Amino acid sequence: MKSPELIKSELFRTAMKCGFDGFGVCSADDFSGAERARLDAWLESGMCAEMGYLRRGADTKLSPRKFMPNAISAICLAANFFRKSPETRIALYAQGPDYHHVLRNRIREVEDIIAANGGEYRTSIDASPLWEKAIAARAGIGCIGKNTLIIRKFNGPWSFLCVILCNLKLPTDAPAQDICGNCDICIKACPSRAISSAGIDARKCISYLTIEKKSALSEEETKLSHNKIFGCDACLRACPYGKDAPEAAIEEFRGTIQLPQNPSRDDLLNAARGTPMWRRFGKREF
Ligand code: SF4
Ligand code: SF4
Repeated sequence: MKSPELIKSELFRTAMKCGFDGFGVCSADDFSGAERARLDAWLESGMCAEMGYLRRGADTKLSPRKFMPNAISAICLAANFFRKSPETRIALYAQGPDYHHVLRNRIREVEDIIAANGGEYRTSIDASPLWEKAIAARAGIGCIGKNTLIIRKFNGPWSFLCVILCNLKLPTDAPAQDICGNCDICIKACPSRAISSAGIDARKCISYLTIEKKSALSEEETKLSHNKIFGCDACLRACPYGKDAPEAAIEEFRGTIQLPQNPSRDDLLNAARGTPMWRRFGKREF
């Protein structure tokens, strides 16, 4: 039987080989204290807008074992998706193949190591109620910045996150320390003034308005959207930790979408196919 240290180092090496650049382990224990209070206050304030699923999923966010009852450890993996590219009307993360599929394929080998060592696991790639950012901070990947994204010295806010809960007891890493300090650059850079010390007010956030909001935008919301088509990178591009981020090592994350100045519906549908935009544009008239 291998030691937990040896299993963890195998997991780490495999994750790096598969293209991930961040790896950390923490317990699967509940979140409490300041984290719970902050989430509760944000949900109570109405800043989650029409995202009722966040309220419904709050218990699982705070208690990872609601997602996997026999979980002991949480393994968090991060993958840089930065590439140098001028700002466009589409957020950078959406300009390549859907990251859920890309990372799904890459994480299998890591899961296989858990299974080969007699473990059970359950994986989340940004599509479950798990609080992946809080797990990433607890596992030492990066701190939750004022723009509510995981901020790493390595690449600032430009990371996709995956979490694997498992029933192996693995050595844990130290939680990430705050690296925002007194910086408020992202707060000032937000074109719709959606960021405050209480978090992001989704009702004003361009990413929410152009990606998540199901109902039609009001006139005021259309103005707040600043002519964006899908998402907004202003608070990511502003973060000083991301200024010298390396280019994505995963080839699929290096694509860019070229669109005419005023794209037609067909232009958008063609561009959206296979990308994270398809979830929205593939299903509706716009
Ligand atoms: S995504 Fe854009 S609108 Fe939303 S908080 Fe960041 S800068 Fe503001
Ligand atoms: S811009 Fe400054 S405050 Fe905002 S996330 Fe980056 S370091 Fe933190």
